[in-house]
Amino acid sequence: MKMQLAEIAHAVGAINDFEQWRSVSVTSVAFDSRHLQPGGLFIPLTGEQDGHQFIQSAIDHGAAATLWARDLATAPAGFPVIQVADSLKALQALAQYYLTKINPRVVAITGSNGKTTTKDMIASILATQFNVTKTHANFNNEIGVPMTVLSMEPNTEMLVVEMGMDRPGQLDFLSNLVAPDVAVITMIGEAHIEFFGTRDKIADAKMEITHGLSEDGIIVYNGDEPLLRDRTADLNLRKRTFGQSETTDLFATDIEATSTATSFTTNLWPDKPFTIPMIGTYNVNNALAALSVANVYRIRPENAQKALATVNLTENRAEWVKGAAGEDILSDVYNANPTAVKQVLAAFSQTPVVGKRYAVLGDMLELGVQADSMHADIATAIDPDKLSHVYLVGSHMVALQQRLAQEMPDLPVTHFAADALPALTSTLQDTLTANDQILLKGSHGIHLEQVLAALQDSK
Ligand code: ATP
Ligand code: MG
Repeated sequence: MKMQLAEIAHAVGAINDFEQWRSVSVTSVAFDSRHLQPGGLFIPLTGEQDGHQFIQSAIDHGAAATLWARDLATAPAGFPVIQVADSLKALQALAQYYLTKINPRVVAITGSNGKTTTKDMIASILATQFNVTKTHANFNNEIGVPMTVLSMEPNTEMLVVEMGMDRPGQLDFLSNLVAPDVAVITMIGEAHIEFFGTRDKIADAKMEITHGLSEDGIIVYNGDEPLLRDRTADLNLRKRTFGQSETTDLFATDIEATSTATSFTTNLWPDKPFTIPMIGTYNVNNALAALSVANVYRIRPENAQKALATVNLTENRAEWVKGAAGEDILSDVYNANPTAVKQVLAAFSQTPVVGKRYAVLGDMLELGVQADSMHADIATAIDPDKLSHVYLVGSHMVALQQRLAQEMPDLPVTHFAADALPALTSTLQDTLTANDQILLKGSHGIHLEQVLAALQDSK
């Protein structure tokens, strides 16, 4: 990008006299001085620390100019400065200005789970026919979304943005900021239910992503979710649904999973089978959401086939890695919710194995008052004929331990407290041999990544 300070000052509502610097231009923005590129605009935000104190570091990294939300007397003398009332609002206003200037089609994605995966799939597919910019990593909040906008190359035709939320009003704001042409809701789950109380309220908050939709905007959503069907029924918007049932506009048939990939066909392109390089049927839903967007933009199905088969994921969370004893570890240690745990268990249990299959399941956090019943309900996805031993970690998992003891008394189950990971690790090291398979899945707060690291290191 390239913007002159006069333009920036106008966009952010400068309150100082910047005339002497009006033709200075910047080629990028950064709020972290260490990430500033030469020629960049420094935007000192105030969070746990006050960004203004890092101005010298920004200058050392080659900053061409800075925003400044403090007394001008504290700004570096002689350095191009645009004074603003609030630097976060200025960042957002600048993003809005730049978005209007570049004017790409905007696809916004939210949902309790699957946002990043779906974002990556949509971007890969659209990139077969358009110049695309997508959210970097997981930059999905009030700072991340404007940063994504400002990361666009001038030739960007499609902007694909992930939008996260953990309170009402957040998506209303983000949606109005970027005015999407297509708004995608992947699913309504239980993430943040501790805060929201009910799935109904989560669904209400997710629907805010439609608030900024452009005039003939389209909402793409999971049509199997009654909470979304109810809320879209009377909306005067163009709608596209996806899901597993034949009442949705785009659904999958013939889903087949191997240990590393999943393939399926769709009702829209029955002669074009799709393959995604990941497991978990929930990823088929994510792919259907992406294909719905592909269809809106008339992407040729053969391009979508290729893009999905080679999708470049920001972070592939469920992945197979080798353990030190030669065992195969299916690692998904950063995120756990009831839907995902059940689906990963199902996929894992179907993977052919020579030795034995073990599962390590850690607490699913942030589920609020329903936590224990949701943990116990994981039993519905456990097939005692497919698993040799189940290891449970964390206090909520006691509920699952009790359910398994009642329903599958012959299945060996061992429970560990959350602070007993070393004991769990040495038990596993003593147990695992080559040809075995082990699943590790739990919320990030349970830190199964420590168990993973220990299993990968030889003792
Ligand atoms: P975050 O809130 O951390 O940004 P996200 O919504 O971006 O998460 P992803 O990073 O795409 O989600 O996926 C994280 C995990 O969520 C996956 O590893 C999987 O366990 C689960 N998951 C992904 N898609 C779905 C889905 N459609 N339904 C249920 N669970 C899903
Ligand atoms: Mg994400």
